[in-house]
Amino acid sequence: MTNALKVAVLPGDGIGNEVTPAAIAVVERAIAVTGGPGLFTETLTAGAQAYLDTGTALSDEVKRAAEAADAIYLGAMGLPAVRYADGTEITPQIDLRFLFDLYAGVRPTRAIPGVPTPLADPRAADIDFVLVRESTEGLFASLGKGVVENDAVARDFQVITRATTEKVSRFTFDLAARRAAARPGHAAKVTLIDKANVFASFAFMRKVFDEVASTYEGIAAERLYVDASTLTFVGKPWTFDTIVTENMFGDILSDLAAALVGGMGYAPSADIGDAHAVFQPAHGSAPDIMGTGKANPTAAILSGAMMVEWLAERHDIAAYADAARLINRAVDAAFAGGGLLTCELGGSAGMRQVTDAVLAAIDAPATIRAAG
Ligand code: ATP
Repeated sequence: MTNALKVAVLPGDGIGNEVTPAAIAVVERAIAVTGGPGLFTETLTAGAQAYLDTGTALSDEVKRAAEAADAIYLGAMGLPAVRYADGTEITPQIDLRFLFDLYAGVRPTRAIPGVPTPLADPRAADIDFVLVRESTEGLFASLGKGVVENDAVARDFQVITRATTEKVSRFTFDLAARRAAARPGHAAKVTLIDKANVFASFAFMRKVFDEVASTYEGIAAERLYVDASTLTFVGKPWTFDTIVTENMFGDILSDLAAALVGGMGYAPSADIGDAHAVFQPAHGSAPDIMGTGKANPTAAILSGAMMVEWLAERHDIAAYADAARLINRAVDAAFAGGGLLTCELGGSAGMRQVTDAVLAAIDAPATIRAAG
């Protein structure tokens, strides 16, 4: 019998403090329904407000507690008005990626039936892909190291390494294989998005990707230039399966992907390494809606499902795999029929309504049967 697993919970700033309790409540309820071992949660303080209060955004104590936990759940961090002297924002969520070598930024994009999409084509209902954003190098390797010379020239730089490109490519091919196994009749495909026609670093990334691709039989490999890829994102995103890309491109394209399925409130994410993982909604702290009750907790709840699924695999807990499926089914059940329209899409459903609908669906026998 597995002992209670420990989750370090960092609600962070702005709506992070609102969506995190909702997501944890949903996770705990789903685990209770499926009979899994209970989670022990430890709430930790970090982020822009912590920086204002204590002068440190991510203390050593918080780092140690996060490292000791079985998983890390993060709400959202950063506030536009709170900045370092060079004008950049406080981003401990990015620091955690470097600290724990969380190289795979996993961003699932799935059309939830009943949630409006901006695309008129009915095939938009079939949008279901995962973008893997390399999260420790690329242009972000320059974080904190960029220079401005004589108020005349500014320089940042990009790093692409063989080791990380191999790891993140393998991660994406393995993910494509798992997705195909779970979906009978579904053909696995990995799309690399780069700018290999212009930059040496991207040409190298493509070469390493190709080497990894040649070791995976039965999974199609495709390569797109980032500019051309935007046409596919808007024109026929349902043709994507899994995508792997550089950090900055992934940052931009994952927001574009979120817009296809309802916006940031519907975009979950996980930053995964070999030993640790951080789960958080892809959105930021959204100070424009903080405290209004309008924040959509769906992305946070789906990130909770990703955490439970990851823990299920690592600790071989079948009830956790069931709980992850139950949460995903409950989200689908809550939005089915289009009656639950969230504020950012012109409706009136906010935090409370969405959380209550998902919690009710988790307890509904029909959802439990569908997840089983
Ligand atoms: P970051 O730089 O940390 O990614 P950001 O400043 O780019 O953050 P967000 O904080 O994600 O942006 O907010 C972008 C827009 O999306 C805002 O108008 C915000 O209100 C909206 N938004 C973000 N998250 C949600 C949510 N969960 N529910 C509803 N609207 C949201």
